[in-house]
Order: sequence, then C-alpha cells, then structure tokens
Amino acid sequence: MKNEKKCVIFIIDGLGDRPNEQGKTPLMDAKTPTMDKIAKEGICGLMNAIDIGIRPGSDTAHLSILGYDPYKVYTGRGPLEAFGVGLDLKEGDVAFRCNFATVDENFVVLDRRAGRISPEEAEQLEKVIDGMEIDGVKIIFKSSKGYRGVLVLRGEGLSCKVSDGDPHEEGVKVNEIKPLDDSKEAKRTAEILNKLLKIVYEKLNNHPINEERRKKGLPPANIILPRGAGVVSKIEKFYDKYKMKGACICGTGLIKGIAKMVGLDPIEVEGATGTPNTNFMGKAKALVDALKKYDFVLVNVKGADEASHDGNYDLKKEVLEKIDNMLSYVFEHISREDVYFVLTGDHSTPIEMKDHSADPIPIVIWGKSVRVDDVENFNEFSCAKGGLHWIKGEHIMKILLDLTGRNEKFGA
Ligand code: ZN
Ligand code: ZN
Repeated sequence: MKNEKKCVIFIIDGLGDRPNEQGKTPLMDAKTPTMDKIAKEGICGLMNAIDIGIRPGSDTAHLSILGYDPYKVYTGRGPLEAFGVGLDLKEGDVAFRCNFATVDENFVVLDRRAGRISPEEAEQLEKVIDGMEIDGVKIIFKSSKGYRGVLVLRGEGLSCKVSDGDPHEEGVKVNEIKPLDDSKEAKRTAEILNKLLKIVYEKLNNHPINEERRKKGLPPANIILPRGAGVVSKIEKFYDKYKMKGACICGTGLIKGIAKMVGLDPIEVEGATGTPNTNFMGKAKALVDALKKYDFVLVNVKGADEASHDGNYDLKKEVLEKIDNMLSYVFEHISREDVYFVLTGDHSTPIEMKDHSADPIPIVIWGKSVRVDDVENFNEFSCAKGGLHWIKGEHIMKILLDLTGRNEKFGA
C-alpha cells in the first residue's frame, strides 16, 4: 500500500536565543499563540543540529537536519553557491564563490565589488570567462546578482585544499592562491587558479563593458576573487535515501543550494527574499499547496536570523510573530491524520552575540499518536521539559520515518 503520510520540517532560521537581563528571550516575549498550540498538541524537546558545543552555519545545520553528515558532504561554501545558482555539478568539481572586483595594474584591490556592477554587465563579462580551458581543466563561471558569481573547475587531479584569492579587504594585493596541503592536486589547482586570474585580468581590463564603465567614471570589473573552495562530493539523493518525494521552500541561495544538492525540488514563492520583509503568507500558501504533491517539504524562514545578526531584539520578536501568523494559516489547512509537522530552528543566533551559537533550540513534533507531553509554550525553557528531551539534527528524519511507518525493522 502506498504510504500517504506527509512530513514537514519547518525551520525558523536563528530561532534560539539567550535570556536577556529580564530573563527573557525574543521567543518567550513574542506573542506566538499558534506555536504554543503546536507545542501543547505535540511532543517537545531541545535540539542541536550537529552536536553539543558545535556552532553550526545554516548550511551545515540544514544538511544535518536532513540526515546528511556535514563532516562528510560539506567541504566549503563554493559547491552550495554553485548549486544555488542552478549549475549542474558533477562529483569531483571544485567550486568557489567569487566577486567581480576592481584592481590596478599591480593587482591591488581598489573595490571588492567593482562598484556593484549590474547583472546585465556581469552577464557580458561572464561569457568571457565561462568555457575557458586551462591545462585540460574546464572553467565554468556564472554570475549571480551583479558582482557575485561562482567559479567551477572541472577536470582530473583537482583539489579544494587551496587558499582564497580574495584578500577580503581593499588597498592590498590579490592573494596568490596557495596549496593548503602537500598533494600534487592542491599544487596543480593553485597553479591553474593563479593562471586563470591573470588571464581574466587581461581579457576583462579592456573589455568594451569596462571601457564604457571608465567613461562613466565607474570602476572596471577587471578581476574575479575566488573564495570558499569546496569539492562536490558523492551524495545520496533525498528520494533514494527516504523514498519520499521532497520539495523545499526558502528564500536564500544557500539553502536553495542545499535543496538542489540533495535533490529537493525548489518551490519558488514570489517575494520570498530571506529578509525580515519576506512574503510570509506566500510561503504558507506554497507549503499547503506543496503538500498536495509532495511527501516531504522543507521550509526555511530566514528573517529572525537576520534580525539577530543585527542585534535587533524587537525585530526578531516581530518576525517571530509574523511567522506565528503564517503557521496559523498552515494549521487551518492540514490535519493530524495525514501530516507530521516538525517546528524548530537550525541554530541559535543570540542577540547578544550577533552570530550563531551552540545553544540548543526548541523543537516540537506534531502529528497523529505522538506522545504528547505537558509543555504548553514553544520556547527555549519550556521545551526543555518535553518528552523528546534532547536530540540531534540527525535524529529528526529517523523519527519521521518511524512515525510514518517508512523504516525497516532491525532484526526478526
Ligand atoms: Zn541559519
Ligand atoms: Zn545566520
């Protein structure tokens, strides 16, 4: 018989926090009646996406929550960005994030963003770089949102153990890219990249687009600065791993990259921006719709993390209230008979730190026959008293497989 039970993992990015001087977190302070109702009707606990004491990035946290070991499949940001802009990557490809930048004739960086060149200009320059070949290695380049882009090296004998070309500041020379280990692959990769940067400068410096820019008094985009090298590893696709047809609703390129990498279908929502002004209700409606077609949906809502990085307590609270409103729409349209719903975050982003911390985050699993506990509020403190106790991100998919009757028995 076909298994009809659906699963949702709903991630509030940067959800968790530390108490302020009044002993409150934004989640405790925010009016979140729907989250509290879910907590009341579900089984609650605390969760660390990777492990105790590990401060995750959003990328590694999401991988872990989807049941992939980030220590095995994550080698750097590059591949995720490259998947995120829609490139078809192959195992062994080495990928980088890049900026178009402005350098003088001595390769001193004058502007790390080349005056924020327009996407149209970037697309013209992209054509110059994309498709080149150096020492038998194919160069793939794609610009995204103007001055940003991704660079992929495809060929034999490459390694991601190389340093950044991007010096991460202006007024200094572009870094010579160096191998980070003793392998001949790292040495070869660094050599190819250093050659590439010289060729790119020669080809771009007097390119008509840049001549135009100079005439207008704008800095030319005459170099690319690669950073965040990573190698594309072999990864078991989500469907093969769980036998569930999966989709992902998110606004940020990084999470889109993860979705593409593991084989979740992206669902585009107009106005889903990954900021505190994202189209919350659009995402809620997209989720309800997606559940008609998919067995599994991952949702990421990013605004609370942005507010935390800015140290803005009130904005974080406000975003959480908007998310609560969005959840109330979702819960009017789903039933416990056919959906298991996991509400949690990917990591804490305490206001006081303006960055991710290792503090565990609240989690609730809602659905038919879960062991409902006494927790009545969804926050860092009440969920600590819940029936799930403490789990890791890697346990979530396993619990869902079990609740929906999809896992195999171990033994007779
Ligand atoms: Zn995050
Ligand atoms: Zn963050």
